[in-house]
Amino acid sequence: SKGAAMVTAVAQRLALQRSQVDQALSTLKLTQKHLEWVKSSMRAGLEAGLKTRGPSPVKMLPAYVYHTPDGTEHGQYLALDLGGTNFRVLLVKINSGLRRSVRLYTKIYTIPLELFDHIVQCISDFLDYMGLKNARLPLGFTFSFPCYQTAIDTGTLVSWTKGFKATNCQGHDVVDMLRDAIKRRNEFDLDIVAIVNDTVGTMMSCAYEDQQCEIGLIAGTGSNVCYMEELSNIQKLHQGEEESNQGRTEEDETEHAANNKWGGLGDDGCLDDIITPYDKAVDGESLNLGKQRFEKMTSGLYLGEIVRHVLLDLTRRGLLFRGHVTEALKTPGIFHTKYLSQIESDRLALLQVRSILQQMGLDSTSNDSIIVKEVCGAVSRRAAQMCGAGMAAVVDKIRENRGLDHLDVTVGVDGTLYKLHPHFSVVLQDTVRALAPGCQVTFTLSEEGSGKGAALITAVARRGTARS
Ligand code: BGC
Ligand code: MG
Repeated sequence: SKGAAMVTAVAQRLALQRSQVDQALSTLKLTQKHLEWVKSSMRAGLEAGLKTRGPSPVKMLPAYVYHTPDGTEHGQYLALDLGGTNFRVLLVKINSGLRRSVRLYTKIYTIPLELFDHIVQCISDFLDYMGLKNARLPLGFTFSFPCYQTAIDTGTLVSWTKGFKATNCQGHDVVDMLRDAIKRRNEFDLDIVAIVNDTVGTMMSCAYEDQQCEIGLIAGTGSNVCYMEELSNIQKLHQGEEESNQGRTEEDETEHAANNKWGGLGDDGCLDDIITPYDKAVDGESLNLGKQRFEKMTSGLYLGEIVRHVLLDLTRRGLLFRGHVTEALKTPGIFHTKYLSQIESDRLALLQVRSILQQMGLDSTSNDSIIVKEVCGAVSRRAAQMCGAGMAAVVDKIRENRGLDHLDVTVGVDGTLYKLHPHFSVVLQDTVRALAPGCQVTFTLSEEGSGKGAALITAVARRGTARS
């Protein structure tokens, strides 16, 4: 009958649509082999980073931190946190002994282009607010961009990442720029003790509670990792250079924190087999073309954009949104990571998914919303698996450094993707377990790594000489 023929036609059209959507999604799926490849590429990247200061995509950036905290740290510290989204100033009060505790007071500021004068303006406001203008506090600066350090209180900005930009900073020493701006203002003085990558702050704040914490991971707007590497391996990195001994206070030091700029993996083409046209589109729109390829596949700033490009492609091919490419869909940045997290929540009914899409200006049918949810799932799953494969390389490296068959280690983690996404952390952990069977890896959320961690590093560097 005519009715039956129509039903068959609709069914055929749906089946064809399904197979085309599946085909697009399959480009985002990683096989076991791919994951092994990511792991071994990351391992090779770590080794190359240890051998050269030169143009290696995965740079090994020494942090001049030789010890995790031991609980004897105390005093009052100022911490700055410049991460890419906000700028915060914090006062951190650390007590040792029976009253062992860390208390934080913080204010959030926005960031303009004239960076350092503005930062000093914010510190001035904060010190007024706390009534501490004359205190000359020790300060730790959490600066979440790649810096080449030659001591704990020097760091040359290698490059901006995460879409961040401020004028006249790349290639300059961040601490010098801060000191100069403080001098220009001529209103208060500070003792700038440490510049800290957020991964290192995260590791330190977690190590304050857990001695087995020797790795820091950020899975947020950006992506990066740090770990305690053998000091002898780091020293090779500095051969022929004048060694600075600042921050080194004991004879028995055997390890040194290094942050890896792992986001740069793939900048030499080693990930080309898994990079999709969607990833290329995202890279093409970015401020740092061809750079931070791993970060662009794994971190919060970019996942929504990958999703948007998949949706654009499906829509152009008539497989989604009735083939209607709207202005909303063409707008970079509409797909915030928070929407990704919401859409992927298992508790959400499809009707709610549709209303989230509506908020972005996207009219969807319930079939559309199913497809969008699948796209989000594929993109975030791939991100979590890649982070897991990278982490597997790091833990195996530590295990082999120590000649162990089995390693127990804790990773301190921070970042919105890890904290807020409904599946990211689970997939990440499953992947590490599968790819590094010789390691028992515990993931612990690090609270306030950028504030508490920076203060602890400052305290460790000053060995508790700050006044309480
Ligand atoms: C930066 C790293 C930072 C990471 C996480 C990356 O873009 O290069 O230095 O640790 O983001 O914030
Ligand atoms: Mg941050």
